Amino acid sequence: MHPITIIGTGLAGYAVARELRKIDKDSPLKLITNDDGNFYSKPMLSNAFAKNKTAEALITTPVAKMAEQLNAEILTHTEVTDIKSLNYSKLVLALGAKPISLSDKILSVNDLTDYANFRNVLKDAKTVAIIGAGLIGCEFANDLQQYGNFQVSLIDPISHPLGTLVPPEVGQSLKAALENIGVKFYLEKAIKHIDSGYKLTLTDNTVLEADVVLSAIGLRPRIDLAADLAVKQGIIVDKYLKTSADNIYALGDCAEVEGIFLPYVMPLMNSARALAKTLAGQTTAVNYPAMPVVVKTPAYPIVVSPPAAGIKGKWKIEADKENIRALFYTEQQQLSGFVLTGTKVAEKASLTKQLPSIL
Ligand SMILES: Cc1cc2nc3c(=O)[nH]c(=O)nc-3n(C[C@H](O)[C@H](O)[C@H](O)COP(=O)(O)OP(=O)(O)OC[C@H]3O[C@@H](n4cnc5c(N)ncnc54)[C@H](O)[C@@H]3O)c2cc1C
Repeated sequence: MHPITIIGTGLAGYAVARELRKIDKDSPLKLITNDDGNFYSKPMLSNAFAKNKTAEALITTPVAKMAEQLNAEILTHTEVTDIKSLNYSKLVLALGAKPISLSDKILSVNDLTDYANFRNVLKDAKTVAIIGAGLIGCEFANDLQQYGNFQVSLIDPISHPLGTLVPPEVGQSLKAALENIGVKFYLEKAIKHIDSGYKLTLTDNTVLEADVVLSAIGLRPRIDLAADLAVKQGIIVDKYLKTSADNIYALGDCAEVEGIFLPYVMPLMNSARALAKTLAGQTTAVNYPAMPVVVKTPAYPIVVSPPAAGIKGKWKIEADKENIRALFYTEQQQLSGFVLTGTKVAEKASLTKQLPSIL
């Protein structure tokens, strides 16, 4: 019998395997990955200085232990280049997303190997320039400035950090809090020219030099392997996580579920639970309740549950000094998203209950 085969051993691949083993202990199971297969939690990459962890210390379960726990064969350092070459009963694509690259000279951090490399170049560094003031850029800025003791500069063409996720009031307060710990902002400026990995000319002709430059301008789902499948932003799957081909499924950062692309941990955990049941023979639809994301900026705590993409409505903002409750109401006056900051983050659970399900 051919094995159930999972490509990818990130949080998504391993979550499906774990969930499957809770309900099916014996079906042959194979995981294939082009990395080393050691288990780690990717969100820890952007607060590892705060937790005082090196890349190696972030590994919570080595690959051999994962294989034993999962009763699975795990092929490491094995790049799949064509899914037609595989023999499987059911195939799961958990391929993740890859950083959008500005230049080969600029680092990005999207896995443990990247992080080990990053820590290595930081050894001799004092200053770090981060391109992109989104979630990951802001988290790294906070971590490196406050806990790593680097001088961090954060560059973005938008007018406030976390631009697309939060209303401007929240972005401005986050900016003030990060400035307060020493981060320097270069907003409403893009990169015009990169002389070497270390010298950046911005669109207003500011020249910025840093010992290390980190790009955090976003990730793109890995869809190369899905050449014969329907793809859009990510690999298109229905509510059963099924791709356009029979017996091939996808989840995590490489997939868009019923047109929704949510590259975060909670959606992939929900997907993994449903998909495991389907793989075990009990076809199950995924359920997405509202799933707030905690932004790991200890200088200014933020929880975000963004409204669905494209939905029309308005933010209603209440602020008590820097503590903000921003509620997003649709044109029909339905609460459909929120952002909480400072002491207001304590309201996360009660507000989440009031939000409609996403799927
Ligand atoms: C710095 C950072 C901080 C984050 N913080 C948060 C947070 O606080 N909260 C939150 O909810 N989300 C956070 N996220 C997002 C979250 O970590 C991701 O959504 C999640 O880890 C994605 O898991 P994945 O398994 O889909 O992808 P990945 O972890 O990228 O795994 C993909 C796997 O596929 C393998 N692979 C790919 N192509 C092939 C191939 N052709 N052949 C073989 N193997 C292949 C890779 O080697 C890897 O094992 C963060 C992301 C980053 C980068």
